[in-house]
Amino acid sequence: MDRFIYLLEGEIEVIDAFTGERALPSSLGPGQYMGEIAFLSGGRYTMPMRAAKDTRVVEVERHRMLTLMAQIPEMSDIIIGVFAARRLRQLKEGDATLRLIGEDESQVLRRVAEFASRNRIPYRSLALGSAESIAAARACGIDGVAPAVIFGKEHVVENPTPAAVARLLGLNLEFSESDQVDVLIVGGGPAGVAAGVYAGAEGLKALVVEDLAIGGQAGTSSRIENYMGFPTGISGADLVWRGEIQAMKFGTRFSMPHRVVTLERLNGSFCARFDNGQSICACAVIVATGVQYRRLSLERLEAFEGHGVYYAATEIEARYCRSTDAVIIGGGNSAGQAAMYLSRTARMVHLVVRGRTLAASMSDYLSSRLAADPKIKIHFESEVTALLGPNHLEKVVISNRASKAQQEISTRAMFVMVGAAPNTEWLRGLVQLDSKGFVQTGTQCGQLNSPYATSMAGIFAVGDVRAGSVKRVASAVGEGSVVVSKVWEYVRRDVR
Ligand SMILES: Cc1cc2nc3c(=O)[nH]c(=O)nc-3n(C[C@H](O)[C@H](O)[C@H](O)COP(=O)(O)OP(=O)(O)OC[C@H]3O[C@@H](n4cnc5c(N)ncnc54)[C@H](O)[C@@H]3O)c2cc1C
Repeated sequence: MDRFIYLLEGEIEVIDAFTGERALPSSLGPGQYMGEIAFLSGGRYTMPMRAAKDTRVVEVERHRMLTLMAQIPEMSDIIIGVFAARRLRQLKEGDATLRLIGEDESQVLRRVAEFASRNRIPYRSLALGSAESIAAARACGIDGVAPAVIFGKEHVVENPTPAAVARLLGLNLEFSESDQVDVLIVGGGPAGVAAGVYAGAEGLKALVVEDLAIGGQAGTSSRIENYMGFPTGISGADLVWRGEIQAMKFGTRFSMPHRVVTLERLNGSFCARFDNGQSICACAVIVATGVQYRRLSLERLEAFEGHGVYYAATEIEARYCRSTDAVIIGGGNSAGQAAMYLSRTARMVHLVVRGRTLAASMSDYLSSRLAADPKIKIHFESEVTALLGPNHLEKVVISNRASKAQQEISTRAMFVMVGAAPNTEWLRGLVQLDSKGFVQTGTQCGQLNSPYATSMAGIFAVGDVRAGSVKRVASAVGEGSVVVSKVWEYVRRDVR
């Protein structure tokens, strides 16, 4: 959206994108303004509005309004606060122009749903063949008998991938060879987003690129309880989303889904190539690509991925666990948190742990809560040895490693949470990695100037991807924040 619209006289109403009817009882009057959070990034609006009567407005071009907002922080805070509240209301009420028809029947649509949900994009999932899905599909000129993604009645998304939906909403930026930023931040987890906030605040032209969803691993945690300032906990997705808005306010741009596949040094800059073939160059790079879950070597695991085997326990997966037992493999904090979260919706949660206790692998407060929850059963010294079902997972076999006894559990959802490996394949040969693939920084690679400098001047690494890092949200945020002063020094030196 390229204009900020402020009402002087008249009335503006929010309308339903499919019926054209007024969607909300309340409307905007003089002194209020149109718009939503996508205004900050120039993305497409998801909440259509129109004048309900003769209306007089002031229009300000987007980039001029952003400049004004940067100059008057008090005004900026009010506008951003209202935009964020509008998005939160949409998410809570399920008010969405983006509709997914037949998510349950289609793995492709489930990927779109995951992308939308984890990136705080309001969408509504409609059952294939339901009256609502047929009406929405007909409004778009399709019959609605096959899974589809539609956006209002004007857009049917062809080949509905996360990238296609992102393009439609303006989240997936187009780059050309000549594009250059001061700093490219690879990874949109807590470390990358914190770096985005500080880089923008320090006046660097910064771009954050993210493979899947802003939030990273933290975005899959329903409740982070040990982050300072949130005594009752905060969902990781919420925390990092706030950071994203804050970074956008300072001018940092975000683009997703974009996976960096290679990085090379070219004429004094670093050029990153993405999985879609596009590339962008930067004076400096901050590596914040974190880690990803390990997979298990289990027969038919791949076939069941997305059909009963999952690697994160977010709201979406919790839905698949309703009135079924859920099985979680792993004895760490993420497995423990997932067990607590899923026990609210699942009939019973089975936590499968290789060790004899949780003492060495899980925080004490969490293991005590698991022990006290009657809906959680811990299978110690055990492992899952078989996955059964025709197309969707229906049963797993749990074997006791000591007694060799086997037990079949009927379940439609198994979660694998067995540790993680760093996302550093794309850096091989460019910076020094340790034996497990984590990026070495500071004294580990002879860099005395910054604990986050890698063996290649101009490339910095922060958060979980860094060798020896503390794998926590607070430390990732801290590292992403403090690295920027050294990046700034480097970029400034580079320009001279
Ligand atoms: C379920 C769960 C619960 C947790 N609970 C807590 C908790 O309660 N308290 C706590 O302190 N910590 C918790 N943690 C740990 C915490 O979330 C991590 O330490 C933190 O997210 C690390 O942040 P990061 O930015 O370094 O990396 P990540 O969060 O891993 O983010 C890295 C991002 O980089 C992206 N990426 C990877 N490769 C590429 C590429 N080539 N190109 C572009 N993008 C790429 C990934 O998609 C990802 O979004 C939890 C973790 C999990 C999984």
